[in-house]
Amino acid sequence: MIPVHKNSVFIPENVNTSSESGVSIILRNQEFLTTKASEILLFEDDDLKWTEMEFVHRQFLGYLDKKPCYANVLNDSSMIPQEMMLSSLRNLLGRIPDNLFVICSRSLQICDWYTANQFCGYCGKKTTMHEKERAMICDCNNVMIYPRISPCIIVLVTRGEELLLAHNKNFPGEFYSTLAGFIEPGETAESAIEREVFEEVSVSVQNIQYYGSQSWPFPSQLMLGYHAEYSKGDVKPDGKEIDKADWFHFEELPQVPTGNISISGQLIESYLDKLKS
Ligand SMILES: [Zn+2]
Repeated sequence: MIPVHKNSVFIPENVNTSSESGVSIILRNQEFLTTKASEILLFEDDDLKWTEMEFVHRQFLGYLDKKPCYANVLNDSSMIPQEMMLSSLRNLLGRIPDNLFVICSRSLQICDWYTANQFCGYCGKKTTMHEKERAMICDCNNVMIYPRISPCIIVLVTRGEELLLAHNKNFPGEFYSTLAGFIEPGETAESAIEREVFEEVSVSVQNIQYYGSQSWPFPSQLMLGYHAEYSKGDVKPDGKEIDKADWFHFEELPQVPTGNISISGQLIESYLDKLKS
């Protein structure tokens, strides 16, 4: 077994052209095999030869330090070694290095794509895997089914020294965050921001500025992060998704996400840095 160092380099790829032996991350039902201390383990091909664990399929992810890197999916009834356990990626957020998060995020999405597309949505026949591309194929109409990601916007709305933060009905306690939502088919990211902010808190925004993005594999979102300035309207939570929302002075913020876990935290931290500088 090998650890992933902060400096290890992972490059996503779809087809393995290397003859080197590989390394695998192991998962089942969206949980990863870890030590009891929640450290994710990577297994070398030689380690897997002697294990009693049983796998249903494995998916090539790319190269980790030039070695082929795979996601191995455990059979539902397979044993797992006594000194190990399964941990959800959500519980590991903020505690694993970025390069390992990329591997986990890709594992979840590639394995989910493979499982969900065993049959063609047009004709119902069994699909097969394309040999040269990351696609499931069906011979009806030459259908190619690629992994899909769902773009979402996430936006921090500000008014000078104040930040607009919202409490989602599903958030625990007094935890607040930025606003977010899926981009609808046909919509631009900017119009999704204007629509979502207005739907969720009845406020209009202006001067939308792109900040950065984050893969959020629960199950397949790509979060596009923005800052936006308040334009007009009184804050009124929609009562459906958002039960509380308000303006908070930057020196009196409620509990919010941290930047090492999510882009929401990075949007907040970068705005605070700007105010303090
Ligand atoms: Zn078909």
